Amino acid sequence: MGFLCVLFLAAVPTALADTLSDTIKTLVFPSETNSDYVELTPLKPLNLRAFSLCMRVATELTGQREIILFAYRTPHADELNLWCERDGRLSLYLSSSSEAASFSVPQLGALETHLCFTWNSSTGATALFMNGKKSLTKIYKQGHTVRPDGKVVIGQDLDSYLGEYEAKQSFVGEISDVNLWDSVLSDSTIKYLSSGIRISGGNVLDWGSIEFKSSFGAKILNREL
Ligand code: CA
Ligand code: CA
Repeated sequence: MGFLCVLFLAAVPTALADTLSDTIKTLVFPSETNSDYVELTPLKPLNLRAFSLCMRVATELTGQREIILFAYRTPHADELNLWCERDGRLSLYLSSSSEAASFSVPQLGALETHLCFTWNSSTGATALFMNGKKSLTKIYKQGHTVRPDGKVVIGQDLDSYLGEYEAKQSFVGEISDVNLWDSVLSDSTIKYLSSGIRISGGNVLDWGSIEFKSSFGAKILNREL
């Protein structure tokens, strides 16, 4: 018994040290530009009939204008965009639609918020999780498929495949921990993610191993968790 206790006590500090020494990348966009962006390289094509898209975000622009949070564009369309609307609602737009699944939630601010959008084509069920708390379910784009062969960009809204950015839609603030799964995660898994427990990253975008291509002004920094 005494031996077991010693083993246990010896193991705890090591486990804690492992948890505390976790380092991830974080993206800082210091100012409003039509040039600063970071392109993310997916692990596989975004050919999606369902997804969970999560990130940590902090911005002080809320309420001033619309802000792009995530842009995935093919040569044909804005396939999958997340926006913070001027009134603070958070919206998912699929396939260049003018209609969104929009959620009235507490406004984003300088303190980091953990967000996850989930969507399932077979039912159209769409939900937003904010700091692990689930929204009501909305029905959006039932039967739709998100198409592959596009670009994933943080910081700017792509209006063509090769660029065309508007400063007044750009993101200013900090975004990290962007993960995309091609399935709907359980409520409890999203709760774990929001609390900072490190489980494996997304199987489409995995923040832990992602490759970045960044333009001049966007900063890619290390962050100790
Ligand atoms: Ca635009
Ligand atoms: Ca666009």
